[in-house]
Amino acid sequence: MTTVRRLWPLLTATHRYDKSISTLGRGHGTTIEAPILAYLIETANGRILYDVGCDHAKIADPTQRARWYDPASFAFGAPEMDDAQRIPRHLARLGLAPADVDVIFIGHLHFDHAGGLRDLRRCGCGAEIHLQHDEWAAHRDDPAVFADDLVDDAGRPFPFSLKRGEYDVAPGVRAVATPGHTAGHMSMWIELPKGPPVLLCGDAADLQENLDDEVAPGGLWQQREDLALASIRKLKALARETGAVPWPNHDLAFWRALPRVVE
Ligand SMILES: [Zn+2]
Repeated sequence: MTTVRRLWPLLTATHRYDKSISTLGRGHGTTIEAPILAYLIETANGRILYDVGCDHAKIADPTQRARWYDPASFAFGAPEMDDAQRIPRHLARLGLAPADVDVIFIGHLHFDHAGGLRDLRRCGCGAEIHLQHDEWAAHRDDPAVFADDLVDDAGRPFPFSLKRGEYDVAPGVRAVATPGHTAGHMSMWIELPKGPPVLLCGDAADLQENLDDEVAPGGLWQQREDLALASIRKLKALARETGAVPWPNHDLAFWRALPRVVE
């Protein structure tokens, strides 16, 4: 029996980049605009955030922006993110405060998924932060992880609650292992009170095309295309078996067709 009541997909930023970042070996020279999403899940026992978007300060502050999104190393520049897209602002519009979030589930540690941790902590969020042990172990070699995103304003590392493998975050909310894009990447299966379950693919599938054509994401941990393809097939099989709808994570057309809340 699920404890989930509703689910909000939150648009935290958009980012323009070469499509080959989302589809391995496809789309070179084609620029796409990708939504950067977080998801708020309300259950009978508390609230869960899947991912938290970028650190707004690294985009809005010119000095930080020059340092973290240096065009020499970061070819496509910073995402577009305004103050109203920060997670605390999204929460406020829903009548909530950052302190009302109980669990932050980080699907993987890239800057556009874990960067919002600092802002949330600064705004009073004391949520437990779930992360896979394998993701933590591999993150130092990954240029898309900003070390600065993983410490608070005083430089103290966030107290990640490190998990191994799949588990129920809450009744009706299941963490699903989908490595490939990163070492410890996790997706999330969510059973809603009505309607079909939702399967948050995370960056295991940026676009609907990744699912439809079984194309790996362009960014891979240790070039493990085999692992990424196995994860895509696993998500499709889970969707088939449970009647779930897989949600790609950086697909603007898919995002535009979503309702603002799913109940
Ligand atoms: Zn990523």
